[in-house]
Amino acid sequence: MARQESMEQAFTRFIEDHENDEGELVYEHAISEMVVKGEKSLIINFTDLYGFDAELARMVLDDPETHSAIFTSVVRSKLRTRDPLFAESLDWVNIRYRNLPAGTPLRKIGSAHISHLVMVQGIIVRASSVTPLVVRATFRCSVCGELNHLEQSGQTMMKPKKCISCDNRKGFELVPRESVFVDSQKVTIQERPEDLPPGQLPRSVNVELKDDIVDIARPGDRITITGFIKLLPRYGRGGELRTFDLNIEASYLDVSGRDAELLDLSPEEEEEMRAIAADPFVHQNLLNSIAPSIYGHDYIKQAVLYLLLGGVSREREDVRIRGDINVLLVGDPGTAKSQMLNYAARVAPRGLMTTGRGSTAAGLTAAVVKEGGTGSFVLEAGALVLADKGVCCIDEMDKMREEDRGAIHPAMEQQIVPIAKGGIVATLNARCSILAAANPTLGRYNPYQTIGQNITLPVTLLSRFDLIFVLRDIPDNQLDTQIAAHILNLARDQTLLSPPLDMVTMKKYISFAKTINPVLTQEVIDRFQDYYIKMRNASIEGGEASAISITARQLEALIRLSEARARAHLRETIMIEDAEAVINLTQKSLEQVGIDMATGQIDIDILYTGKPRSLQNQLQKVLQVINDMERISGSVKESDMYETLSTDYGINRSEGARFISMLMRDGTIYMPRPGYYRRAD
Ligand code: ADP
Ligand code: MG
Repeated sequence: MARQESMEQAFTRFIEDHENDEGELVYEHAISEMVVKGEKSLIINFTDLYGFDAELARMVLDDPETHSAIFTSVVRSKLRTRDPLFAESLDWVNIRYRNLPAGTPLRKIGSAHISHLVMVQGIIVRASSVTPLVVRATFRCSVCGELNHLEQSGQTMMKPKKCISCDNRKGFELVPRESVFVDSQKVTIQERPEDLPPGQLPRSVNVELKDDIVDIARPGDRITITGFIKLLPRYGRGGELRTFDLNIEASYLDVSGRDAELLDLSPEEEEEMRAIAADPFVHQNLLNSIAPSIYGHDYIKQAVLYLLLGGVSREREDVRIRGDINVLLVGDPGTAKSQMLNYAARVAPRGLMTTGRGSTAAGLTAAVVKEGGTGSFVLEAGALVLADKGVCCIDEMDKMREEDRGAIHPAMEQQIVPIAKGGIVATLNARCSILAAANPTLGRYNPYQTIGQNITLPVTLLSRFDLIFVLRDIPDNQLDTQIAAHILNLARDQTLLSPPLDMVTMKKYISFAKTINPVLTQEVIDRFQDYYIKMRNASIEGGEASAISITARQLEALIRLSEARARAHLRETIMIEDAEAVINLTQKSLEQVGIDMATGQIDIDILYTGKPRSLQNQLQKVLQVINDMERISGSVKESDMYETLSTDYGINRSEGARFISMLMRDGTIYMPRPGYYRRAD
């Protein structure tokens, strides 16, 4: 070594001389703190070390293991001068490094980094339970009873080759009381969705955590980890293979970005965003920039815009009310649902695209799975947990796993995923907006049935969406011509597509807008109150007191949506125009899913019970007629039945035919022979 000074001296000098801006000896102080708090780790901010002695810092980066051993002895002797008893009681002192000068992308980790110190950012996707790991094993010789101590470092337990006192070569028994253990945990970190190059599968790497850094992060947490790259041998039929598994032995772990979900904007960029908002047509400009390749679907784009911006979440002492907006698109194949989701996942500052089945075993929520090798349980985070503080786009949500069907309810409303299985008890956060798409079970949407009947999703789940839209693919000459022209022209010339704001600007704008927490004004409160009461009354006036047209959930949805709309204008207050616009949008959504087509009244019952109330009444009348005719004459002739329907109930032939076909589809009635009906029983 060319240096005059030994590593030990250099490190001692660093501890003794490094001062922070206030002139404090940070590390001398930290060592004193260790004694007071009974801690066994000294955390070194690498920036300090680099600033103090760049050469020393570089050597640590290249060979952290050797240096840690030297540094440990320095710290130990410093501890000894402060409190000899405490220093003696420590089996183990950790030197932990944080804040390296440069990070390494998870995707780039490879052979070049073996045994080096690296810093990697990722998201924890699975975590094992915490298990004791023996670092110094004590064995009792079965012949003479002598205790043999052995430091452990490899993957497997090393046993003494021979007893130190009697030369016996086998029959050693581990004595846990005399051995030294530390806590250990294995976690897997994966590339963060926002770091993922388009169209690539996320990479992941296993990380070993030891001692006081176990269990401080959970699946779904975004972390910055420092550690050195270790190789684990693989075994094949002929013995040890030439290839290895790459592992990170963690030195330090920072749970980053629990809140930092947004892009950091420079003051100039913020100015640029304000200029965009100053345009009187800002709302229209934003809308026109949402998925410009998709023609029409204006209300859906509006909903997607509000979902991206989100409302304000309210953490109160007793309850937490989510600010995230959930939107469901249901509809015929080929209506650009998947495309819309794809767009949203890409433009959101933190977006994730998945399918109902989920891309891992954990599906949408989470799973406890048994690990192959050791048989221990590991907790794996699903899509909603990984999308914490972001937007989760779930395509084909109707094809969700059975396990998710139960767990997704609290995930959508309380935004948590509780787990209690295989000895693992945890609550994971899932504070994300959900943009979901579902296909009708029978291929196409049947407007005479409810959403619940059209897709195989429970109604309890549907009520957790703030807005639901139905996309129907009905041939319409004018619209078809326009869509065709749009798609064909775009296919010929990409440049026709020039949205007011490009994707990058949209991302920045959303990030900026999300920092604003608009407040409600009295005028808006009165308007919402008014609307809410009116809607609830509407069904009562309609006759059936039990029919509820709007629930408290929709009221909360109105608030969230109006907050999002104010954010779109970078406004601190919610104005009456926001209230009117979101009421209009809610009305559109309700019409599509809950409108009672016969009376024109909005009837949320349709969401819950199936048929709208008035339709249920009409069908009941038809069934009554069929019943009566069966009882009197034994058979129900088609023409007689229509006759009776129109004379007794004023139901004309075409209406009657519609009800009959619905009853036939339900299987309530059938045709025993042409021209005759019968009730199935
Ligand atoms: P879905 O998921 O609803 O079954 P997709 O999102 O896969 O449908 O859309 C099928 C294709 O049709 C896509 O390439 C999409 O761009 C195109 N498409 C459908 N509707 C429109 C539209 N309104 N404007 C532009 N393209 C459309
Ligand atoms: Mg699709």
